[in-house]
Amino acid sequence: MQKTKLKISPWLFILFLLIVPSSLYTILELNSMDDQEELYEGIYTNQLDAVLFSLNQFADDNVRAWINDIEKLNWTEGSQERNIKEWISNNPQCEHLLLLDHLNNNTSIDDTLLNEIEKEIKLKELEINKLNSYFNEGYRKVLGYDLNLEHYSLFVFIANLNGQLQQCAIVVDARRFISDILSPRMQRIAGENFVLSIRHVSSSEIVFSTLINTIPESVTEEKVIWLLPDYSIGIQPSGPTIKDVAQKRAYNNILFLVIVDLVLLIGAWFFYRNIRREINLAKIKSDFVSNVSHEIRTPLSLISMYAETLQMNRVKEEDKKHKYYGIIYREAQRLSGIVNNILNFSRIESGKRQFNFSPVDINDILNDVMRNYAYQIENKGFKVDVQLGDDIPLIQGDEEAIGESITNLIDNAIKYSKEIRSIEISTQINGDKVWLNVKDYGIGINSKEQKHIFDKFYRVTKGSLALHAKGSGLGLSIVKYIMHSHKGDIIVKSEENNGSTFSLIFPSNNY
Ligand code: ADP
Repeated sequence: MQKTKLKISPWLFILFLLIVPSSLYTILELNSMDDQEELYEGIYTNQLDAVLFSLNQFADDNVRAWINDIEKLNWTEGSQERNIKEWISNNPQCEHLLLLDHLNNNTSIDDTLLNEIEKEIKLKELEINKLNSYFNEGYRKVLGYDLNLEHYSLFVFIANLNGQLQQCAIVVDARRFISDILSPRMQRIAGENFVLSIRHVSSSEIVFSTLINTIPESVTEEKVIWLLPDYSIGIQPSGPTIKDVAQKRAYNNILFLVIVDLVLLIGAWFFYRNIRREINLAKIKSDFVSNVSHEIRTPLSLISMYAETLQMNRVKEEDKKHKYYGIIYREAQRLSGIVNNILNFSRIESGKRQFNFSPVDINDILNDVMRNYAYQIENKGFKVDVQLGDDIPLIQGDEEAIGESITNLIDNAIKYSKEIRSIEISTQINGDKVWLNVKDYGIGINSKEQKHIFDKFYRVTKGSLALHAKGSGLGLSIVKYIMHSHKGDIIVKSEENNGSTFSLIFPSNNY
């Protein structure tokens, strides 16, 4: 039975590790905020209620004080009208003081108002008649009605006038009552913490506020004034509301969590990338050791085998001897090439590689390399075509390092060619750059790998030739380093199975 292996991407795992706890925390945080918000909101609402209650109470107390004053007057026959006039003149918020039993005898009041009052009293007759029984039980209730006329309101109550219980009413100018009596008190209560306002309910107009330009919508808590039913007292905090504060806190907390998550994600990404890089490097290094050992062992065993054969005088024919010497020489060359690459690489790594720059002719260097290698290259069955460009200017360069770079490119062209054993080498001047191109018709490199072949230790292992070709993965990284030291560059144009062209590009004006 075949087992299917569930593969979990490390990213999913990291996301899970990070996102789950922080999301849970966010939810928790939001919930706990809701609870706290409710608690604060509750406390706050109670406080607002208390403020509104105390204002209502104050209005009520004020009317009671009026009633006490009224009761203290001498209400004997004949003095009634004078009393009323005097009392009214002392309390400018009140327009009229009426005894409901003698309503029709009142001459000072105009007909429209009187009609309105009578209408209202008739309408509320039941309620008003209960005032007597309340009074007899020891509680004086004051009723407040809106008269729908010139901002007038009516306060109805029982008063003991000279030992006689009378149903009385005061016609009050509600706006004056508010501005003369309620507003100073409101200013005092509001202080710096609250804004208190009074709104005319039917028109929604703010008739007074402790803060100018208060808009009705900003009022957070509102209660009708007991004695002025068409007016309500509103309250709002002068600073931000609890809701604002809670929302701001929620916003800040979530923003903070998002930032923390982002930082964690970035951190995890760096951590993951470093670990991956370390693992890759460890693998590359171990591959390198095995590649290099393999590469050194082959020439060494060939050299020792042929040297031993020759030393034992087992070979009599001169041409065979000559062939063996050739092999020993070639393998020794290869060995020294490998060792040179490794030494060069280690010098580069430790920053000890130094270059001796002087004006050099790239064609001359190429010719020198070809003189040393032509035999070897042709021996391997390769045809080399060298095209030297005309008028190539001298460049500032290190002869040995440039020779080493060309050798590396030719070595690779040989190593990675299959049936078509042809190499084309050319030099040319291209704008202000000098180019040296090494073209082969070998296995080529796919575009994905092309990005990495200049990295140290990097080797392509796809395809049987690439896999079996010996190498350390250092050659191109050394060439790249050399080219950058010459303020130049190395580029590759290649297509899988269609050969490659490597170009060394030198600046010509650095001389
Ligand atoms: P190596 O020692 O493996 O040749 P290099 O640094 O010289 O190391 O090259 C890196 C890789 O680039 C090689 O492993 C090979 O896959 C690829 N490469 C280099 N030159 C050629 C080429 N001319 N044709 C195809 N592949 C090449």
